Amino acid sequence: MSSNADIYHEMIIDYSRNPINYGKIEDHDVTFHDSNPLCGDSIDIDMKIEDNKVTDIKFHGRGCAICMACSSVLTEITKGKNLDDVRHIEKNDVLSELGLEHLQAVRIKCALLSLKVLKSALYTYLGDHLKDSQDMDKLKEEAANLY
Ligand SMILES: [Zn+2]
Repeated sequence: MSSNADIYHEMIIDYSRNPINYGKIEDHDVTFHDSNPLCGDSIDIDMKIEDNKVTDIKFHGRGCAICMACSSVLTEITKGKNLDDVRHIEKNDVLSELGLEHLQAVRIKCALLSLKVLKSALYTYLGDHLKDSQDMDKLKEEAANLY
């Protein structure tokens, strides 16, 4: 019988071989790129946003198995959500899907790169559409406290 750890390990390998939502959206409403130089992970996230909702999301780039698996899970969680819910996605929402809550500090950046890129893309989009500068400050604070 497989333990939970084995099942999670298999899921991560599976996602890294066949990532979900992998690709580009040519007519995206917002896109963002970031990398994790410690490991060499480098990804872009493209989003289509309509009526305050993420109607489509894709990521592309390269990364280690953990980075690819978390990007797959995160984009799946995000798709169809309204922007307010996306703002409230937390790191454990992603990590718990893959049993990575207790990941060592060196690998946590691999796991959370996609979340960082997603939030940066969201803030970029909101920054272009928000009129209230107080809201903008709050967004910047949220972005700074991600890890
Ligand atoms: Zn990595």
